[in-house]
Amino acid sequence: MKQILWFRRDLRIIDNEILSSAKGEVLPIFIFDKNILQNLPNNDKRVTFIHKSVYELKENLKKIGLDLALFFDTPTNVFIKLKKQGFDEILTSIDFDSYAKKRDDEIEKIIPLRRFLDSYLINPKDILKSDKTPYKVFTPFYNSLEPLHQSNYIKEFEVSKNINKVDFDYSFFPSLDELGFEKQDLPNFLYKTADELICDFSKKIRNYQENRDFFYLDVGSNLSVHLRFGLISPKMVFNKIKKLQAPKKEIDFFIRELIWREFYNYILYHFPKSEFENLNGINVNWNQNEEDFQKWCEGNTGVPIIDASMRHLNSTGLMHNRLRMIVASYLVKNLLVDWKKGEAYFAQKLLDYEASSNIGSWQWAASTGVDAVPYFRVFNPYLQSKKFDNEALFIKTVLKELKDVEPKKIHNENGVQEDIFLTYPKQIVSINYSRDRAILEFKRANCEK
Ligand code: FAD
Repeated sequence: MKQILWFRRDLRIIDNEILSSAKGEVLPIFIFDKNILQNLPNNDKRVTFIHKSVYELKENLKKIGLDLALFFDTPTNVFIKLKKQGFDEILTSIDFDSYAKKRDDEIEKIIPLRRFLDSYLINPKDILKSDKTPYKVFTPFYNSLEPLHQSNYIKEFEVSKNINKVDFDYSFFPSLDELGFEKQDLPNFLYKTADELICDFSKKIRNYQENRDFFYLDVGSNLSVHLRFGLISPKMVFNKIKKLQAPKKEIDFFIRELIWREFYNYILYHFPKSEFENLNGINVNWNQNEEDFQKWCEGNTGVPIIDASMRHLNSTGLMHNRLRMIVASYLVKNLLVDWKKGEAYFAQKLLDYEASSNIGSWQWAASTGVDAVPYFRVFNPYLQSKKFDNEALFIKTVLKELKDVEPKKIHNENGVQEDIFLTYPKQIVSINYSRDRAILEFKRANCEK
């Protein structure tokens, strides 16, 4: 028996189901997938992070007597070659987005593929309502996970004792340059291990619930990128967070956030059409004005909180959760631009981009998804910035041209923009007018459903 262990979004050796289920001679591999890389700009930060993480994975595999073979090709080409070398089976972790499903179905025709779900705590197949249909609302879904709520530890996978390294040429390791990418500077926390991030978080968790929305503070765990690429499993996060010396209510609140990640994966599994369609079936007449969308992307809308968030995203690949909610609401409601455009833009830029969480959150913001924000709720970006960044600290860090402007003017408290900003763009749309326009349009779309 010769097995291929195909690492993709599980770049770790601890608590990895493919390493635990493997048997006999194994070839761990990672493919720099040409189908994906050819669509990315050469300064994509995620490629720098993946490249570094794959190097660390290779070193860790060597410590347990294995190694990692690297390929720079399409998966189809790689497996056609490996088939000829007598491999019987591929073990890999599962992904539910359309590209991944199509790719895996094709690979399965070349070599049998066994898929494991270890990027999530919950197998979507296992959780259904009493009428055997999937949950569509978060709270009952969350409440149904009683065994999880009762437990403080979930058993982790151990590396199989019955495996050994197949004879192979493991020497190929393409540089970023050879892959066609430039090395990028990453935010400091991405040079830390997941354990180090949890240690940092142990000092912040006491104020997590209270301060989570204050986006000028660093209150979150910053674990989303490590979770996305599987440098840590959600099970390990669960186990480690449960062990922290912290108030139970803070720990429970954090686990609840982690379950949102599960919920959106669950929704994508049960409703794959949500990747492409409004899940609630409404038909919104979206604004086709490309210029408005471009201004949102560049951070030139004339609304400081929106522009600071978008420019920060463009330069760092990061955006705080509250800011994601504010810019998404502004795009889909105030500008009335289709959420799919915002989703696709985030997919290009976010370091932690994860199809299920991104699609689910965009459909939530657009009032088109399951358990979504009601259509008549439109965030006022100025009230949001005043409430969560009263001194405009975050905004001033990004928008240097506003550094001497009084916070109350940045939050537009007197409602007159023209006398405030000399070198800053004027609002591309009035907040009140565009809010009313959105409510009318969403009301019509909901009535005509
Ligand atoms: P923490 O507050 O420390 O939370 C812990 C973990 O729980 C996170 O790492 C994440 O894995 C999970 N989590 C927290 N909040 C959410 C949530 N609302 N939905 C799903 N999972 C959550 N998250 C992504 O990982 N990838 C995405 O592509 C993504 N796109 C988003 C798009 C929009 C429009 C919105 C509103 C939210 C999106 N999120 C996404 C969720 C959330 O913003 C990030 O997970 C969070 O900001 C990551 O920071 P953290 O690790 O410090 O989170």
